Amino acid sequence: MNEPLVVRGGRVLDPTTGLDGQLDVVITGDRITTIGADLKVPAGASIVDAGGLIVCPGFVDLHVHVWEWATDFSVPPEGAGVDAGVTTAVDMGSAGVWSFPGFRHLIADHTTTELFSFLNITLIGSMQAGRGGPPIFNADWVDPAAIERMHAMHPDVIKGIKTYAESGGWSKGFQPFLTKALEAGERTGLPLYIHTGELLAVDESNRPDPDSIMPEVLAVARPGDILGHCYSGMPDGILGRNEKPTPELLDAIDRGVRLDVGHGLNFNFEVARRMMDAGVLPWTISSDVHGALAGVHVVETCTWSLIGTISKLVALGMSLGDCVLRATARPAEIIGMGAEIGSLAIGSRADLTLLREVREPWTFTDGDGAILETDRRYLPVSVRISLPERAWRRHGRWPRRRATPRARSRSRRSGG
Ligand SMILES: [Zn+2]
Repeated sequence: MNEPLVVRGGRVLDPTTGLDGQLDVVITGDRITTIGADLKVPAGASIVDAGGLIVCPGFVDLHVHVWEWATDFSVPPEGAGVDAGVTTAVDMGSAGVWSFPGFRHLIADHTTTELFSFLNITLIGSMQAGRGGPPIFNADWVDPAAIERMHAMHPDVIKGIKTYAESGGWSKGFQPFLTKALEAGERTGLPLYIHTGELLAVDESNRPDPDSIMPEVLAVARPGDILGHCYSGMPDGILGRNEKPTPELLDAIDRGVRLDVGHGLNFNFEVARRMMDAGVLPWTISSDVHGALAGVHVVETCTWSLIGTISKLVALGMSLGDCVLRATARPAEIIGMGAEIGSLAIGSRADLTLLREVREPWTFTDGDGAILETDRRYLPVSVRISLPERAWRRHGRWPRRRATPRARSRSRRSGG
């Protein structure tokens, strides 16, 4: 298994190491060992021809929903992961303390895609959207001490806390979600990912002023905390009804509060343009891939993906390199994996995402029906991931395979 592998002749693009050119990448074992132009192929090496493709560090999607079957809106993990050009993904709050052990042992330990979790602030997690019954979110079902205990048992998988600040919750007195999430963040040392923009059903008798929520959030968000859905068109979102980012938002960004795209249902081209025109780029790019919210178990219903989101951001004016940085090294650093994945630095784990640039006229449509014309987009071709088993996956074509449990390789990495 240690004979070298050469990924030859692709456009190697890694903003973290400054690489952008036609280069060969040599992988030995599970590590990147050499990168250079026209390298001599080592004896016994196998070769992957990457001519015409873009070779990037393995993509890290900070926001997906893959607690399949337990929640009614999650997609199959490999569908959000390796089959979509993503080698590492973070399930963003589908599981809470009560359901995390199931997520870990039934899903995360068995996927080819490397999975992590941000625990939901509610004990139950966000279990259902379309199965019926009473609303399950409940301000009493929040317990920072329980989050601290669960994190102490699973620090290798739990990397943050997902919470909410939006009109639906505010109308029902769920402000404690945020204050208790801050307490849980202090107890664990973990960052918060704060959902912004209307999500839960609003009690119309108590609908808050949409402009009132974001100032409360910005006043308490800590450096390293992440505001999700930064280009949402919702009136209670991060830009909200403003023409430009508010001074309070710019101050928060200056002190280290981070913005994540979290594409999902409410990505809005006009909001993205206004934010970008004011110099506000996302810190990270994520997909918020999930199934239909009114279904019971519906898969492959998303019309967006991480690489599709990147294609839209390029069409809106960002460079591909700026996008790759925000979908590799930056999310890797947030989950404490920056020394291992997210770049093509020599010695890094050899996770790669290979893209194809398709040059042809294409039309994107946002959640509010606005249209964005472009002349190029990007598609995932294949990935290589070095955990839990070394494997090439080709988008949409590789058979689902029985993966080996990850426990051994994880404990080997952590030395215990
Ligand atoms: Zn989400």
